[in-house]
Amino acid sequence: MSETVPLQTPDVLVVGGGSAALCAAIAARRSGASVRMVERAPASLRGGNTRHARNFRLMHDGPQWYVPDSYGEDTFFRDLVRVTRGATDQPLARLLIRGSADITPWLIENGVRLQDPAGGAMPYSRRTAFFLGGGKAMINALYATALKLGVTIDYDSEVVALSFADNRRCTADILHAGSIERVTARTMIACTGGHQANLDWLRESFGPAADGFMIRGTPYDTGTVLRLLFDAGVKPVGDPARAHMVAVDARGPKFDGGIVTRITAIPHGIVVDRCGQRFHDEGEDARKTHFARWGARIAECPDQIAYLILDAKGLERALPTALPPIRADSIAELAAKLGLDPAAMETTIRQFNAATDATGDAPLNDRATTGLTPPKSRAAVALTEPPFAAYPLRPGVTFTHFGVAVDDHLRVVRNDGTPAHHVFAAGMIMAANVLGDGYLAGLGVALSTVFGRLAGEAAARQSRTT
Ligand SMILES: Cc1cc2nc3c(=O)[nH]c(=O)nc-3n(C[C@H](O)[C@H](O)[C@H](O)COP(=O)(O)OP(=O)(O)OC[C@H]3O[C@@H](n4cnc5c(N)ncnc54)[C@H](O)[C@@H]3O)c2cc1C
Repeated sequence: MSETVPLQTPDVLVVGGGSAALCAAIAARRSGASVRMVERAPASLRGGNTRHARNFRLMHDGPQWYVPDSYGEDTFFRDLVRVTRGATDQPLARLLIRGSADITPWLIENGVRLQDPAGGAMPYSRRTAFFLGGGKAMINALYATALKLGVTIDYDSEVVALSFADNRRCTADILHAGSIERVTARTMIACTGGHQANLDWLRESFGPAADGFMIRGTPYDTGTVLRLLFDAGVKPVGDPARAHMVAVDARGPKFDGGIVTRITAIPHGIVVDRCGQRFHDEGEDARKTHFARWGARIAECPDQIAYLILDAKGLERALPTALPPIRADSIAELAAKLGLDPAAMETTIRQFNAATDATGDAPLNDRATTGLTPPKSRAAVALTEPPFAAYPLRPGVTFTHFGVAVDDHLRVVRNDGTPAHHVFAAGMIMAANVLGDGYLAGLGVALSTVFGRLAGEAAARQSRTT
């Protein structure tokens, strides 16, 4: 169960095993507290959704070896207000942004390695830095550091009950191998991610459509601790029926598909529903992140399924995918392979092709359909060249915009507005305070590392006073 002798009465109990938990545990330990960390996943699957992450967002005043140019506090703040449409707690947002300015040296000091952008392996970004070896290497480095510092780490250990009513101690029941251990700690930090892997909870919020969703990350983020905190009177923040979803390959795994199942070639073809009908402008957004807008659209389709259809020209422009596309020499054969009505699909493609510019002289980005509803406003090229290819698409949930309210010391806030002085939260479980809607690349790990570190330091301080 444990890599070291478990502490029965730690100063700080950190619940979770992703980047928020690791940063909290390391920061609390470095501040002199005794720390026990409990991760629900087995050691081989430790690290939550952080395993899948590639980069994190950071404010910086000038170029560093790991990030070019600059990205100032106000620009970061404006970006956040824009994507959240104002659904952000401004003091917490400023705390996050300022904390991101020195999180990189702290992570490096704690063993994390970054990519040198000059190597050219990653896309140019002045807003984010990339982990060398991805999120998995990042969490492995932090686990090694936490152990070296003397953090007690338990795997296969799920917190299933909590009590912290007396404002002095917290008790947690930890389920491991069928038995329960009760731990009493001076302070606790909840870092258990969101509840997006809880299919029943998703069904409560999204209805039967949730059955058609894929979960891009860990199956262990089921919101057990989130629910326990609500039951203990902690205030919810955000909306459980709002989620960040992207278009993923429907043939991928139900959980943990990570980033490789994303389908990024939508602007190169057309998307049809299970009736063979187009339902949205595939050229509307030609940015690299366009797939993030398609998750919610596919969630609205019958059975939450759609199909990207390409011809040989589109396939050539598409990036390689983890799973090969389904191919056929004719549209009718392709439709049959997908289980769609061949006649309906042939009609859709005939109408689409007729609405494209047959001369094909204009640059790709200027080619729009005429007289078609919905239009395709960019890269509207007739699908004529075999082989034809398809990817079945489903909505892939990254996270929900829902969690516990915290104050600017990262203490959880009760329904009556008072903070619980010895219970803290960091990472995705409290992200909705700052990210009530939308998403900015790299914000997830910025939130988990910066708030994890701050919560760890605050919990260690608090543990000295109780
Ligand atoms: C496919 C994918 C790609 C992503 N890419 C990026 C990216 O490139 N950049 C970025 O910034 N963000 C990215 N994100 C988002 C980012 O991964 C998360 O926002 C961030 O990792 C959250 O960290 P966390 O520590 O709060 O949660 P997690 O890393 O999810 O950790 C939660 C932990 O809590 C544990 N746990 C859950 N319940 C219990 C319990 N009851 N008892 C004990 N332990 C429990 C889980 O096992 C898990 O270890 C991505 C997410 C996904 C799914």
